[in-house]
Parts: sequence; C-alpha cells; structure tokens
Amino acid sequence: MQKDCVRVAVRVRPFNKRERDAGSRCIISMVPSSITIQDPRDPQNRRSFCFDYTYWSHSGFIQDTTGKYLSEDTGGRYADQDTVFQDLGEGILENSLQGYNATLLAYGQTGSGKSYSMMGYGANKGLVPKLCERLFESIKENQDSRRCQVFFSMLEIYNEQVIDLLSRGSRAAGGLRVREEQHRGFYVEGLRTVPCETAQQVEQLTEQGMRTRTTAATHMNANSSRSHMLISLQLKQIFSKESTTKQSNINLVDLAGSERQKLSGSEADRLKEGTAINLSLTTLGNVISALADVAVGKKVVHIPYRESVLTKLLQSALGGNSRTVMIATLSPADICYEESLSTLRYAERAKRIQNRAVVNESPTE
Ligand code: ADP
Ligand code: MG
Repeated sequence: MQKDCVRVAVRVRPFNKRERDAGSRCIISMVPSSITIQDPRDPQNRRSFCFDYTYWSHSGFIQDTTGKYLSEDTGGRYADQDTVFQDLGEGILENSLQGYNATLLAYGQTGSGKSYSMMGYGANKGLVPKLCERLFESIKENQDSRRCQVFFSMLEIYNEQVIDLLSRGSRAAGGLRVREEQHRGFYVEGLRTVPCETAQQVEQLTEQGMRTRTTAATHMNANSSRSHMLISLQLKQIFSKESTTKQSNINLVDLAGSERQKLSGSEADRLKEGTAINLSLTTLGNVISALADVAVGKKVVHIPYRESVLTKLLQSALGGNSRTVMIATLSPADICYEESLSTLRYAERAKRIQNRAVVNESPTE
C-alpha cells in the first residue's frame, strides 16, 4: 500500500489595519518552498522551515494609510486565490475523482487568513467554492462514462458540541451525537446531507450555513473564531459499463483560531468553553504529534483520536484513508511572532504524518 505524507502549505497575508497602525515590521520571508521567520527582539535569531508549498500573499496591492486598496502591485509576486487553488484544489479534486478521500485543513491564529483561503470574500473566492465549481464542471465533462451524485453537509464544532449548520434548531437541541460504526468509523448521527446538482446549489447552502453560524454566535455572545467549521462533500460515481461504484469524501475544515485562549468574562461558562475549545484543538495537536512520532519510528502506544469530537471526525484524514492537505496561515507582522512561530512548528509536525489512502471502489449494487 502506498504511503503518502500530509502535504503542507503556508501562506502569509497582507498587513491589516491594526498592524499597520502599530507600525509593524514584516518578519517573514520566503523563497520557493522555504520560509524564514525572524525574532523581532533578536534579529539574529532566525528559523527556517521547508514546506510543500509557500505562498507569499503579503503585498498584492498598494494600500493607503487607512488600509484601502488603491491599485494592484505590479511586482507580480502576490500569490492569489487562483494560484493556491491550482496547487491545492486541483489535486484534491483529482484525488476525489479517482475515488480517494481527501481532506483540506486550514490552521492558524484568528485573522491570519484561514477563511480567506478556504471560503474567500466577495470576488476573491476561496478553495471551497472554486473546488465545487470545478467538481460540477468535471462531472458534466465525464457524464458519458459515469453517473455522479454529490451530497453536501456542513457542521460546526463549538464547545465539543456538533451543530448542524443546515438545519434550524440543531443548536437548541444541544447538538448532534457522534457515533461509531465498525466499517464507517465515526459519523454524526442525524446530520442533514443535501443532494446537489450544481455549484450554485452548494453555494446557496454554504451561505445559509455561514449565516446560521454567525447568527448563532451573536445570539450566544460567542465568537465564531472559537469554533471549527467542517464542510463535507460526498461524491458517488457510478460507472455503468464497468459495474463499479467509486465513493469519496471530501472534508474541508476551517479550524478554530490557534491562539492561546484568554479566559475572560463571566467565568463558569467561559471556563467551560475555553477548556472544551482547547480540547478539540489540543487533541488535534496531540494526534498530530503522536502520528509524527510514528512516522519517525518512535514507539507510540496510543493515538488519542477518541478524546475530542474534531479528532473523531478527522480520524481517517489523519494517518488513515485520506489524502490530506493543510494550509497554515500567518500574519506577516512582528507583533504576531509567537503565534506565527507556533503555527510553523505545528505545520512542520503535520508534514510528517503518513496516510494510507486507497481508492474506495466496489461493485455497483
Ligand atoms: P481567519 O479566518 O484566519 O480568522 P480571515 O480569513 O477572516 O482570517 O482574514 C482576516 C482578514 O485578512 C480578512 O479581512 C481578509 O480579507 C484578509 N486576508 C486574509 N488573507 C488574505 C490574503 N491572502 N490576501 C488578502 N487579504 C487577506
Ligand atoms: Mg475565519
């Protein structure tokens, strides 16, 4: 069986207003596939990391002092949404059409560009909408040889609760249960999965889900940066001539902000929230570390998948039957040094994970 490592990309965004107002300095530099970070208090102290992909999206535009974009940078170095999609999105699409499971994870501190890369804003569409568009295009192109079905679902993990973003009342009901079946692994019981035939349908559902997420967060006085969002596309391809069916799951995950949680506000609730949110992200970190140790031949007795909701649902993506890509997003600014360094270390560990992806093919029933 072929082993494939988790592929890791890093992307650095432009300064935001807060950073510019603080007179921030850029401490990140990149050459193809290598990235260097400089300690702002000790400029001699530099650390370099190698990744499968590096994206310099720091200076795409000339900005005025208020952060308004004036014109496009003619330097041409800026890695835009298309570039990122061509590298990461096309591969995921390709894999899933071949019948492999695929997972894309966005990791980084709040405000570093996870949602920008995954979902995008306005005309700058991110990986998810672009992937959906290309998926339906290629279904159309291949309709002579196969019949395809796509099922869409969207959920949020907040405070270790699973909330269905496509059905009202899921949150009020206290969330959905995660169950386990021998062949299926972990899954969310009663999650709404919607058959889709066009990219527009998926887009509408995504928008609906995002609205549910924001309103719910406002309602609970919570911050959506503390929750994980998981979009799943199930692709079923029925090849009539060969009488086979290929099935693949595409998991697209916009993780909660990786920054250390500061506990504030009304204690009891917040404390519970803080611990639980840390639980999914901390456990993800522990799973990644354990798998990275396995990869270098260390004896590891236990991979703690079962210790959080997120890692249960991502079990096959991490060390299992999936081709997995992580995009780690960074602020360029000196004031974010600690968080950026920690993101790079995390991403470096993720790179070592070895998966064993197989084509999910079976005779058509
Ligand atoms: P996160 O989801 O990690 O909290 P966002 O994706 O919402 O962060 O990004 C924060 C802000 O930075 C947004 O206003 C977004 O438009 C901007 N931004 C992030 N990444 C980029 C990028 N690669 N190019 C241009 N702007 C970006
Ligand atoms: Mg976000």
